[in-house]
Amino acid sequence: MKSIEKAVEALKQSKYIVAFTGAGISAESGIAPFRGENGIWNKYEEKLFEINYFTQHTKEAWSMLCDGFYEAMFKAKPNAAHIVLAKLEKEGYIKAIITQNIDDLHEKAGSKIVYKLHGNASQLHCNNDGNNYPVADFDLTTAPRCKVCNAVLKPDFVFFGEMLPEYDMNMSIKAVSKCDIVIIIGSTGVVYPAASLPYYAKRNNAVIIEINPKPSAFTNEIADIFIPMKAGEAMQKLIDILYIL
Ligand SMILES: [Zn+2]
Repeated sequence: MKSIEKAVEALKQSKYIVAFTGAGISAESGIAPFRGENGIWNKYEEKLFEINYFTQHTKEAWSMLCDGFYEAMFKAKPNAAHIVLAKLEKEGYIKAIITQNIDDLHEKAGSKIVYKLHGNASQLHCNNDGNNYPVADFDLTTAPRCKVCNAVLKPDFVFFGEMLPEYDMNMSIKAVSKCDIVIIIGSTGVVYPAASLPYYAKRNNAVIIEINPKPSAFTNEIADIFIPMKAGEAMQKLIDILYIL
């Protein structure tokens, strides 16, 4: 049996599926991953996403962020992988999506339960009084400021050196503790602590299905079924077979 058919068999027998997604799922939507070929780091300096640099050089950081970063985020549309995941949630298969991505494409595709380990690019946050604002309310040609206290706002995604959002992390741990399948899609498993979550699931006897074009840090360690394909293509095939069987 092919790996994708094995995955469908496992999905049909499961009661609680969690998807764990990384940059690879959004690559087909035109969002460059941070790492690797065409990675954001090739265009922006890594320090731009470090909290110490941002805190000390807020205006310079904002002028760099305004240069195409948000434009790419706004322009992106969900691809087949996001859409299939939303369908599988609606039909009761998927109980939660845990994502490392900040692009909100799961919500745009219609997914409801999405835990965002690294925050999101659609909101801005005031560290001074905790207010949040939609980034779309600002023109970003100058550093955006809080409408209440006038402090310069911070993107509401997690910078290097920052803690992960507590609620999302706790809910993710709960989800991987009770799931019987994790589908890893487009995550290479090198960014911690996020990458530890599928290992939790594995220790609780969940079946690990991995969809990545190339083997990752997960493949030899925990993957029970490895599907060596791009996210959109694999998820479309998977749901097609699911409907036939
Ligand atoms: Zn404020």
